[in-house]
Amino acid sequence: MPITIVRDDITRMDVDAVVNAANTTLLGGGGVDGAIHRAAGPMLLKECMTLGGCKMGQAKATKGYDMPCKYIIHTVGPVWNGGGFGEEQLLSSCYKNSLELAEQLGCKSVAFPLISAGAYGYPIADAADVALRSINEYLCGSDMRVTLVVFGLRTQLMDEAEIEEIRRYISESTAPPTGGLRRRRILPSAQPEPQPTEQAQDGKSFSQAVIKRMTELEIADSELCRRANISGSLFAKIREGGGYQLKKSEALGIAAALSDDTDSLAELLSLAGYSFSSSERADLIVKYLFDKHRTDIADIERTLFSLDAGLLGEA
Ligand code: ADP
Repeated sequence: MPITIVRDDITRMDVDAVVNAANTTLLGGGGVDGAIHRAAGPMLLKECMTLGGCKMGQAKATKGYDMPCKYIIHTVGPVWNGGGFGEEQLLSSCYKNSLELAEQLGCKSVAFPLISAGAYGYPIADAADVALRSINEYLCGSDMRVTLVVFGLRTQLMDEAEIEEIRRYISESTAPPTGGLRRRRILPSAQPEPQPTEQAQDGKSFSQAVIKRMTELEIADSELCRRANISGSLFAKIREGGGYQLKKSEALGIAAALSDDTDSLAELLSLAGYSFSSSERADLIVKYLFDKHRTDIADIERTLFSLDAGLLGEA
């Protein structure tokens, strides 16, 4: 998948490049910077000493040394000063410049920590939002895989109050009615699972409907990939319409990218042989967000991750 979010320690990631949230000296520090220097070994500091530091928002690369990655890309995030000092733009530049450098180095997979979200004080939910949007915009149909690594069991990418609100919505939507007072909410296609037709099974009718909607909405291939969080190569298979059997997460990502309400989303999804179901957490979360006109993929992925409901797009 172009963007994945995982809860892990970035020093263990098996990727071509790991990004380090460094400081302007590039001579090591605490947090993720300290962890990366410890894992890479003393040769990393030696190479860093030759680089002459790095400006905020910029990025410089070194070898990976004892880490599993080939390269470490050091970028310097902004210190949070309340949000009125260009922090968002600087943070976004960190992601874009790091990805550009990774691409120049021929990397196919990159892992990022939540830059600036530790000692530099950027509010975590906002930092995650900037991270996912910046990565999503940069990738836009590319086949590079990017992992956003969230550290620690307690780190949440959304406000706790909002997570609670969505949890309540899920339990109200799935709980059986009690004493006739609470009525179960039914999703548009909460009816019996549709039986995939011959056409839907080989993906033809879904792919035709996707192309038709893209034409109506004047959406280019790369924009569809960005909105659905899928790679250009997966989209090429869908366009061909051959026997490729989409996973539900992929079909849901694509349907969400081409719909602005849950009825049209459910209709498109059914052509891929899946139902939009009131008993699945991911479907309910997408419905919750769509009802609030929140259809942006970065927002959807962050919410799904925060509620342990998997991700959309390509698995
Ligand atoms: P900054 O100075 O840019 O805020 P920090 O290292 O203090 O950088 O924190 C950035 C983020 O990295 C925080 O969300 C922190 O929890 C996280 N972090 C710390 N150690 C690791 C690690 N080993 N792997 C992944 N993320 C980490």
